[in-house]
Amino acid sequence: MEPDSIAGVGYKVESSVSDVEQGSSSPPLKKAKAWYKQPFNPDWERNDDFRLWLRPDPADKYAAKCIVCSTRLANVNKSALVKHANSAKHVRNYETRKSTVHISDGK
Ligand SMILES: [Zn+2]
Repeated sequence: MEPDSIAGVGYKVESSVSDVEQGSSSPPLKKAKAWYKQPFNPDWERNDDFRLWLRPDPADKYAAKCIVCSTRLANVNKSALVKHANSAKHVRNYETRKSTVHISDGK
């Protein structure tokens, strides 16, 4: 009886080579920089100060849209939204829009 140790070794070598290939095919991890950037908060759409004009940007979860100014707000955070809401441009657009069109609540 001859042991088939040669075939056994050959199989093991092939197996370990394919393991190495799988390991090297995974993409390198990119480390995101810690930053105060925050995604759009759904609570803002229910906030009385924001809900009539603020909409999320479907293309970018870190951005929002002002529908009365037709403006895209990049890097949304609450202080930026308050600042926009109190800006002269936004107040003027909002008053103009309110007097000409009834801003619907999405119903
Ligand atoms: Zn605005």
